[in-house]
Amino acid sequence: MNAILTDGLRALGLDPSRAPILEQYASLLLEGNRVTNLTAITAPDEVARLHMLDCAAVAACIPLAGLRVLDVGTGAGFPGLVLRAVEPSIQLTLLDSLGKRTDWLRETAPRLGGSEVAVLHGRAEEYGRDAALREQFDLVTSRAVADLRMLAELCLPFVRVGGRFAAMKADACAQEKAQAAHAVEMLGGRFLADEVYTIPGTEITRRLVLVEKAAPTPAQYPRRFARIRKSPL
Ligand code: SAM
Repeated sequence: MNAILTDGLRALGLDPSRAPILEQYASLLLEGNRVTNLTAITAPDEVARLHMLDCAAVAACIPLAGLRVLDVGTGAGFPGLVLRAVEPSIQLTLLDSLGKRTDWLRETAPRLGGSEVAVLHGRAEEYGRDAALREQFDLVTSRAVADLRMLAELCLPFVRVGGRFAAMKADACAQEKAQAAHAVEMLGGRFLADEVYTIPGTEITRRLVLVEKAAPTPAQYPRRFARIRKSPL
């Protein structure tokens, strides 16, 4: 796994000396997965490519140094913990609604060294109304959590004006993006150019959909989840 990570980080233009931390993270993930459902991907080489390098690619697309980053629906820490492994200067907050995963993250993040990671257990649409978190982050990330139209309502309230929301998506997401255009605008966002990358060592092309926060999110958003699902913006 070390060679896959070292070569992959180098291919992404990132510091290959961060590979051992990702390897340790992968090993804790697979160990924890025996007790708690953390990942469906369990072959070590696949964990290296499809979790670690896929998420590390975000750091190759966006300069992260010193940013306040929130990862919404982080699961077992993807992409948030990988971003902190490759760019230790970020101030990272991880948010997930599943207590077993946030418990595991609280135990695991300190074992990977570096600065303290804040772990929040609860729903994004509820935390998004909390003044201590609303419009407080330079960057909000999310992978595999919801359709972009709903995801925009879960994530954009956390982004400071001038900051960005980065949604990790499959390459073929043009229709999903078009359907989210109205929501993004209503929530104060503006699409930037996407970043497209290939996960090193694979032929998988992925797309980072980037949204800039151009104006504050109106106070009525986010709504309750049932409402977001029933009447997406
Ligand atoms: N981002 C991780 C990844 O890429 O491996 C996890 C993806 S997993 C498919 C989706 C995660 O989003 C789950 O852990 C779930 O608990 C969380 N989630 C879904 N809706 C959420 C919400 N409204 N607020 C917070 N977390 C949510």
